[in-house]
Amino acid sequence: MKIAIMGAMREEIDPILATVGTYTSTERAGNVFYESVYGGHELVIAYSKIGKVFSAITATVMIEHFGAEKLLFSGVAGGISKELKIGDLIMASALCQHDVDITAFGHPFGFIPEGRLMIESDPQLRSLASEIAIDMGIDLYEGIIATGDQFVASSERKEWIHKTFDADALEMEGSSVACVCQNFAIPFFVLRAISDTADGGASDDFDTFLKTSAQVSATFILEMVKRLEN
Ligand code: SAH
Repeated sequence: MKIAIMGAMREEIDPILATVGTYTSTERAGNVFYESVYGGHELVIAYSKIGKVFSAITATVMIEHFGAEKLLFSGVAGGISKELKIGDLIMASALCQHDVDITAFGHPFGFIPEGRLMIESDPQLRSLASEIAIDMGIDLYEGIIATGDQFVASSERKEWIHKTFDADALEMEGSSVACVCQNFAIPFFVLRAISDTADGGASDDFDTFLKTSAQVSATFILEMVKRLEN
């Protein structure tokens, strides 16, 4: 099977490239895509650059040009739930866009007419992830991830996102990737390791924990690749 693995930042895919070892590179649509074989699957790997627009472009190219049949996102996020500590893993049950606001027309926050407020990730990929977490003896949280084109470093904004969307974590790419995958009917999975808690100390924590948290997420994603059936 051809599997896409994407991150937003170089640091999020570096551990994946280091583990797969050999790969070829192709330039397309302003980005670089790495192809490799790992765990009996063909992989296409890329980091999109930050935010909803770049991540949507990359996911689209992985599906339309490289023929990805499943997409796994690996990266870091700001934690909202008090249960989530830095370094913990959360998989998205569903994703939403916290910065969409056409409430002036009576729509709820996050809703785009003819779209969906929440996009559910693939249940089979989630149950595989749950099995792996048990086998590896690690805690894997499941919850709603809220996406927006903002680095959230404010307790107030974080609480608003929690209250409005019941979200457990927030980041800047998951929901746009989910939207692309849903529209192309490609099963997808979004995994994030917590790098910060989206409050006043978020940018310092992010800089400190980006690499270690990105590694935690990448290790888990590669275990999923090994356990996926063709
Ligand atoms: N330091 C970077 C910017 C990082 S933006 C630079 O200067 O280039 C944060 C990235 O990590 C995004 O890709 C986002 O998905 C994720 N992220 C982690 N913590 C976040 C937070 N508190 N708010 C929003 N996104 C967060």
